[in-house]
Amino acid sequence: MEKHAENWDYLIVGQGIAGTLLAYFMLKSGLRICVIDKPHRAASSLKAAGIINPITGRRYAKSWLIETLIPFAKKTYKALEHDLGILIWNERNLLRALPTVQDENEWLRRSAFPDFAPWFAKEADLSGFEKILNPVRAWGETVGSAQVNFPALIAAFRDKLRQENALREEEFRFDRLKWRDEFPVYDGRKVKGVIFCEGARAVANPYFNYLPFVPTKGEYLEVKIPESNFPKMVKNGVTIVPMGEGSYWVGATSRFEYDDDLPTARQKEWLLSKLRKALAIPFEVIKHDAAIRPTVFGTRPFLGRHPEHAGLYIFNGLGTKGASLAPFFARHFTAHLLDDAPLMKEVDIARFADKYTGSTPPAR
Ligand SMILES: Cc1cc2nc3c(=O)[nH]c(=O)nc-3n(C[C@H](O)[C@H](O)[C@H](O)COP(=O)(O)OP(=O)(O)OC[C@H]3O[C@@H](n4cnc5c(N)ncnc54)[C@H](O)[C@@H]3O)c2cc1C
Repeated sequence: MEKHAENWDYLIVGQGIAGTLLAYFMLKSGLRICVIDKPHRAASSLKAAGIINPITGRRYAKSWLIETLIPFAKKTYKALEHDLGILIWNERNLLRALPTVQDENEWLRRSAFPDFAPWFAKEADLSGFEKILNPVRAWGETVGSAQVNFPALIAAFRDKLRQENALREEEFRFDRLKWRDEFPVYDGRKVKGVIFCEGARAVANPYFNYLPFVPTKGEYLEVKIPESNFPKMVKNGVTIVPMGEGSYWVGATSRFEYDDDLPTARQKEWLLSKLRKALAIPFEVIKHDAAIRPTVFGTRPFLGRHPEHAGLYIFNGLGTKGASLAPFFARHFTAHLLDDAPLMKEVDIARFADKYTGSTPPAR
């Protein structure tokens, strides 16, 4: 058996943003882990813009728990920047188009609430954008928002796991999972727990597919905008996110119904039409791609222990907000594993216990 296999108690399945942050906190807590991950073309972390936006949706609602999530995310990503020697955390205001009177009124109404006000700039500052953006009736500006570089973090953390012999770059095989004395045994090795962080692929997990996953397909573009170099994010039909060196991420579509996980000409055209409407200057498309988000019924993450099989856990359901949710809930979950600290009711999968009618593990 390989060297790392001698040395772990928990197996984490999946190294997207969920598996990465969970591995980070578990290692920090002194737990012995091994991550098993086989990159999948539709895994969402490597395609996401990594935006953290405190004010979201058409009604400009405040994101759930945002006062807790953003400071904790910043602290965690900054610590990871320090440990890994890379840049992950980019504070970026977000300019938001307010095309109708109703939009503007709603924005102003929200910005007057004392608990919303800290996230709203007094006035949108469009200096530097005069020649770049097409005119819109009015603009708002969010402060305290950020953009997290998922690909850089996941790649650097993967290297660290590799160096520590804590990574198996292969598919997790359900037919290799057995039980001995109530504990899971994988590939013949008894472990304290297997924690599934599979993103949208969880719908094919025979132990957790009773949970109400509602995956959504998202398509996006990467573009070059040669005549510009702006630091803020812009939301007008699509969201435009600076990625450095003149590149911008532009997205995203969101569809519950889809035939496959591949990019489509139709959604590309939709993205292009929105981008042409937003930008007053030419751009060049570098890439068009798609991924599947692990979105769930009720929008709250899925954390906890399997209702029947001791030693099987899930950390998933980060939906459209992996950048802000993953750090806080990875630590929350680690405390649960380590000290049996209770999980928040809103995220504990015990809330779906009545939906569980038994698992059908694959035959050998
Ligand atoms: C177009 C798009 C834009 C987005 N933009 C944002 C954004 O701006 N901000 C934000 O916060 N969120 C955004 N999201 C959502 C974000 O991507 C997710 O919340 C988050 O990345 C989910 O991470 P995850 O680790 O749960 O899943 P994933 O990223 O899917 O990772 C799961 C990993 O597990 C591996 N895996 C699965 N099954 C197995 C197996 N059996 N064996 C081995 N490996 C396995 C997969 O290959 C993958 O590596 C966006 C999503 C999309 C699609």
